[in-house]
Amino acid sequence: NTQDIKVLLLENVNETGQTILKGQKYQVEALKSSLPEDQLIEKIKDVHVIGIRSKTKLTANVLKHAKNLIVIGCFCIGTNQVDLQYAAESGIAVFNSPFSNSRSVAELMIGEIICLARQLGDRSMELHNGTWAKVSAGCWEVRGKTLGIIGYGHVGSQLSVLAEAMGMKVIYYDVINLMGLGTATQVPKLEDLLRQADFVTLHVPEIEDTKGMISTKEFEQMRKGAYLLNASRGSVVDIPALIKASQSGKLAGAALDVYPNEPGGNGPNFNAELNDFTEELRKLKNVLLTPHIGGSTEEAQSAIGVEVAEALVNYVNFGTTVGAVNMPEVSLRSLTLEEPNHVRVVYIHKNVPGVLRKVNEILGDHNVDKQMTDSRGDVAYLMADISDVNANDIRGLYQSLEDLGSRIMTRVLY
Ligand code: NAD
Repeated sequence: NTQDIKVLLLENVNETGQTILKGQKYQVEALKSSLPEDQLIEKIKDVHVIGIRSKTKLTANVLKHAKNLIVIGCFCIGTNQVDLQYAAESGIAVFNSPFSNSRSVAELMIGEIICLARQLGDRSMELHNGTWAKVSAGCWEVRGKTLGIIGYGHVGSQLSVLAEAMGMKVIYYDVINLMGLGTATQVPKLEDLLRQADFVTLHVPEIEDTKGMISTKEFEQMRKGAYLLNASRGSVVDIPALIKASQSGKLAGAALDVYPNEPGGNGPNFNAELNDFTEELRKLKNVLLTPHIGGSTEEAQSAIGVEVAEALVNYVNFGTTVGAVNMPEVSLRSLTLEEPNHVRVVYIHKNVPGVLRKVNEILGDHNVDKQMTDSRGDVAYLMADISDVNANDIRGLYQSLEDLGSRIMTRVLY
């Protein structure tokens, strides 16, 4: 019964998300801030769903008190504030919203490309400091220039379309073969992109392969007077190498939104937390430095609210794990809960040999319409739609599955 579902939302989760959850008639309690650990433990004891942003730490110590919890919604991009492994082993699915802000990042890149081409950051800073310095040398239109996009995923492909609309030529490099949008063309090697592009922009994930992806050798391969933009992750660009390329005049400018070591919160005294080279970065000409704001817009926040809340509803009501970050992704065609005697069994279990045989012995007494199972590490997820379970059978079915040694969590949805 959806009215029995208790939801706790912390850290001022966006209205759009709250509205969707309340629309389901769940009991929603929404708080503006995060909670200190002792209060969090008290509150989490009886809730089924918790929604957080980046400040609430859901450690194993907190989660072990969450006896009724089935799902965590991170209304943000990152999920390292949650002990994902512990959650999975406790049968708690975790969802986030990795792509709601792609457009915001792409638009920021467009703004920065023009700012760099026209040295806007420096001109504005000079006038703020009382100096009138009208210059045209080294300032360019972007029309007809080549934009090289490294990583043609959610952000990279959005940017591609916007850049072409301004008359830029777009080339891209990606590890997989992708159809270019508009007239954008893929180049086979990173080096090809670096040698041709006037603007090089990074939109790759942070993985082992992309660590220090742009370093001394790559700066050498770039055109003289090219620009570099990084709003992906701080580890992707070797900052000391960038400083050298900028000081030598090889780079005409750069825009950085991400850093290898970012401060935990806002405020003026971030030097100690950022790496030493920030000091040098701040002295460079035509280098735009922004505090990881690529995805920070009102639109992205409300899109995150919708995306995460919908994932939570699909999980609570239907057991669907598509998009979960710590569980195998399992989904069946949507269940007709209204039909009499139809139930969906969700059985989260340890990924050990022999489980399915035992589960199917239990389910085998019934008419299983459809079944799907998948595993991720030590945890496996089984979903089965059954069409001949009457109300009296449900308890027995649930209990038989609960009694198996492999059980992590059993849910029977009807
Ligand atoms: P995505 O997963 O949609 O796309 C990444 C692309 O990079 C994929 O097409 C993938 O094939 C490609 N790729 C992977 N490894 C590569 C390699 N070694 N060389 C070339 N291409 C490679 O990701 P996205 O949503 O477009 O995000 C891109 C980056 O932007 C991520 O690092 C993300 O964390 C970051 N991001 C930053 C902000 C911000 O506020 N600055 C906001 C959103 C995303």
